[in-house]
Amino acid sequence: MTLRELLTRSLWLAPLGLSLVFVAGVLAWVRANEAEEQELQRQTLISDALSTEAQLRDRIDEEQAHLRQLAAGLAGQVPSTAALAAHPEVNAGLRRLWLAVTWLDSRSNRVLAEVPAESEANRYEDGLSLHLTARVAPDGVLVVRYAPALLLKRGVPWWLARKYDVQLVDSADQVIASTTESPLRAALGEKPSYRVALTGPLRASPLTQATLTDAALELTVRDPAVSGTRPLAWVLVAGFLPLIAVASWLLRRQMRQVQRAEVAGRTEAAWRRAMEDSALVALRARDFDGRLLYVNRTFCDMVGLPAEQLVGLLPPMPYWPPDALAEVAERNRRNLAGQAPREGYEAHWRHASGRMVDVMVFESPLVDAGGRQIGWMGSIIDITERKRLEDRERRQVETLAHNARLTMLGEVASTLAHELNQPLTAIASYGAGITNSLAKLGVQDELVLGALQRLGQQAAHAGRIVARIREFLTRREPRHEPCDLHEVVTAAIELLKRDCQRRGVTLDVSLAPGVPAVLADAVLIEQVVINLVRNAADALQARPAGNGGRRIAVSSRVVGDFVRVDVQDNGPGLQGRRVEQLCAAFYSTKADGMGMGLAICRSIIEAHQGVLDASEAANGGALFSFSLPLSRETHTETVHG
Ligand code: ADP
Repeated sequence: MTLRELLTRSLWLAPLGLSLVFVAGVLAWVRANEAEEQELQRQTLISDALSTEAQLRDRIDEEQAHLRQLAAGLAGQVPSTAALAAHPEVNAGLRRLWLAVTWLDSRSNRVLAEVPAESEANRYEDGLSLHLTARVAPDGVLVVRYAPALLLKRGVPWWLARKYDVQLVDSADQVIASTTESPLRAALGEKPSYRVALTGPLRASPLTQATLTDAALELTVRDPAVSGTRPLAWVLVAGFLPLIAVASWLLRRQMRQVQRAEVAGRTEAAWRRAMEDSALVALRARDFDGRLLYVNRTFCDMVGLPAEQLVGLLPPMPYWPPDALAEVAERNRRNLAGQAPREGYEAHWRHASGRMVDVMVFESPLVDAGGRQIGWMGSIIDITERKRLEDRERRQVETLAHNARLTMLGEVASTLAHELNQPLTAIASYGAGITNSLAKLGVQDELVLGALQRLGQQAAHAGRIVARIREFLTRREPRHEPCDLHEVVTAAIELLKRDCQRRGVTLDVSLAPGVPAVLADAVLIEQVVINLVRNAADALQARPAGNGGRRIAVSSRVVGDFVRVDVQDNGPGLQGRRVEQLCAAFYSTKADGMGMGLAICRSIIEAHQGVLDASEAANGGALFSFSLPLSRETHTETVHG
């Protein structure tokens, strides 16, 4: 298989390949998009985490400022719960974030006053609490406890809390506080999260001695923005790929079919061309105007012009004989009008070399694939050779008939002369007798004597005329030349073949090989054979034709010094008639018969020192035979002697 064929065969893969490239491109694009989106989400997360941290820090700083203000307001006062509780800053703090405010002695760490009471302050004690401190002059310390959960709740804006799980975690990764009710920590890395250290402002309560050295603020994205394009892209790709696979398969099938059809078409065209070119019949297709649309090779050979010169030509055609243009044009008009004879017509064409070609043309409608007639298709057979043979045969038959007529006329004249000679001689004798008698009686009548003399002269003249005619007609002496009897018989059979075929008669010829030559006149012997076979064929007309019903067997064999030729038929036979009767002049049982045929045959054979005979055949038909002496020296002498 060549590279080109391979390419053509795998062409259907191209759309599939391109589609796969396209899908890969789309997936890569989606991937890149997702990465970008994640990066954006991460950056937003970081900035949100940082801003949350800043806000929380601000909040704590604010609370620290409030506490400092409270401490300044309590400076110099006697520490008491009442004084503490009465301070508006304390109440405001408790409303905001504070769990409890404790006034400690800075030296002994003893609680001097506390708001609210211990039990109440335990509301948020379940988690870790953080604290803020401020000095109160002269030697006290104010400690504010606050719940980190509340700090987160108050300090984280609602929109951030909705978006993220905000958690405070310690160094051991324990959740200290969370914005959600049940902080289920997601496995690390499952959801995007970000942690910011928040150590500075956070201090565990000095009472619990807990430290929060490494506390951190962790923001976890609540619903990581699952990219919407990703599943959609997958669905589209998943749907697209089978579709394109099916489409490719269909394309492949279609291409295979087209290729097969193409191959079949090419093969068929090659076949058709080969058949058309090797056909002995010339083909031409013409449209309704007579323009040549197609010619095959035989047509080109027939007119001696190449197809390129012929196709597209309009009448008059170059192969029309120039001396009969008007007649041919008229016939062409008739043919194009659809009135060409169905059984074909004969035409006379001129080959480019100038020689004339006899053709037989059959016209039939030229029909296109849709069944519409688009012109005429002509099948042309070259019949030049056939016509020549027919001509020759006709001439031969004519010559033969002419010869036969002459021979017959000679025979008739000879018979007539023979038959008339006697009466004429009798007339002359009687004339002479009467003249003698009148002389004896002394009759001197010049008139009567003159008339009788002229009668005698006229009778003699008539006799001479008949003899001359006979001599003239039979002047042609048989030419005794050595000839091959088989050749003579074969030539005669050849001439009769067509006639026998037409009359449904089967001719069987079996000639003995190696028969020596005979001394004979080939033309006359040929006539004998023709006559015998014709008679047999005539007799066979009484039998039904077909299936071997009419048979003539011509055979030859050597018998002693003679060669014998038999002509046997399976007709009605001789019915008791003998050869003398059949060979008598003017004997015929046929309506149009002259009855001279067998008589002539007999005299010809006898002139050759031969014998003609007739008998009943074993199969019921007639058997006519003649024998001729072989041309040995002794016989040659006999022939001439
Ligand atoms: P014609 O053919 O003019 O009749 P022929 O002398 O050739 O004259 O034949 C004389 C007759 O001999 C025929 O009319 C026919 O009756 C008879 N005859 C000749 N050949 C055959 C034959 N093969 N079978 C039967 N009869 C024959």
